[in-house]
Amino acid sequence: MKKRIVLLGATGSIGESTLRVARSLPDHLEIIGLSGGRNTARLLEIAKEFPAARLCAGDEAGAAALRNALPGREILHGSDGLDELASMPDADLVLVAIVGTAGLRPALKALEADKDLAVASKEILVMAGELVMATALRTGSRVLPVDSEHNAIFQCLEGQDPSTVRRLILTCSGGPFRKASANDLASVTPDQALRHPTWSMGRKISVDSATLFNKGLEMIEAMWLFRLPMEKIAVVVHPQSIVHSLVEFLDGSILSQMSSTDMALPIQYALTYPKRYAGPCAPLDLLALGRLDFEPPRTDLFPAIGLARRAGTMGGTLPAVLNAANEAAVDAFLAGRISFPGIWENVERAMDAVPFVEHPTLDQLIEADRAARVCVTG
Ligand code: NDP
Ligand code: MG
Repeated sequence: MKKRIVLLGATGSIGESTLRVARSLPDHLEIIGLSGGRNTARLLEIAKEFPAARLCAGDEAGAAALRNALPGREILHGSDGLDELASMPDADLVLVAIVGTAGLRPALKALEADKDLAVASKEILVMAGELVMATALRTGSRVLPVDSEHNAIFQCLEGQDPSTVRRLILTCSGGPFRKASANDLASVTPDQALRHPTWSMGRKISVDSATLFNKGLEMIEAMWLFRLPMEKIAVVVHPQSIVHSLVEFLDGSILSQMSSTDMALPIQYALTYPKRYAGPCAPLDLLALGRLDFEPPRTDLFPAIGLARRAGTMGGTLPAVLNAANEAAVDAFLAGRISFPGIWENVERAMDAVPFVEHPTLDQLIEADRAARVCVTG
């Protein structure tokens, strides 16, 4: 039987890779819901390719344009539309690939409606990991990681006793400035920050990879997904991005997952779990690769990892503050309003300034998120 998939964020980088997986596995996957944001033209093209899917445009104007082009087709829009797609009665699995925290509400809706949830949007686990995982536990739905590092760890942990894990080792490409000096970092432009050495991704995550906030967010994401304390989560730089992450067990064994640098593979594994099929991802040629390198991250020059460690260890509202301040600071950097080091300076300032709540409700998390953004833009 085909798995019926709702894809939120279809017009983005993860969205496009997901569609590539769906095209290559037509006997196993069926796309029944698709959402976009501002790129209505791209959503229209995708809608024509998947004529049976229900659609959700970013706003009313986008929905009107789609209705004109696709008479007779049902078109939703905005956050209510996302909620409706996320709880479609026919859906088996909802993949959330909306950048930032706009995917949190539909992710919770999907879990409440007993759907499996595939999470690409790491920001929602950083902001509200406790709530998302508690909801999944209550409803019995699965949370399947799409982020390549977490998908790798998920694969390595299969069939293992979680109490035998000594630590998780997240790999990190080091980003475009792996070898830069503090001086070089001071004058980094948005164009330079958007040029990732090994992955092709959306703008926000590309900047996050350059500051290493991406790895910081992933450390917190890993805490929630695998229910481990921050001290059991380590980071190593691995410039080739072939070993996607590793798990070290109590006996000293280390298991890793390797594959080519293509998000189609972790996306496919999350969509078809627990089954494996021949999909669009090219096989890995170890001999052409020749070598795999590992180095320590430069935490002195890139404070993001230390800030994320602090946020994950303290818990409460601090991860939400780190996440929201980073999102606002990345926007400000891309708009030319702050420097590249200004990103982590703003995040640290917000973490020091926003009042801390140890066991926040969802409303308190939303308030911490808002206050952190004001700290950056205000
Ligand atoms: P993109 O910027 O390429 O795509 C983002 C998607 O979200 C687009 O479909 C966009 O629509 C939609 N969107 C943005 N804002 C809203 C909103 N307010 N409401 C509804 N839809 C919205 O990002 P990526 O695909 O690169 O990343 C998506 C998520 O996956 C991020 O959280 C990222 O951290 C994570 N991720 C990405 C990886 C990658 O390789 N790209 C790897 C691992 C994780 P539109 O473009 O039409 O405006
Ligand atoms: Mg990742």
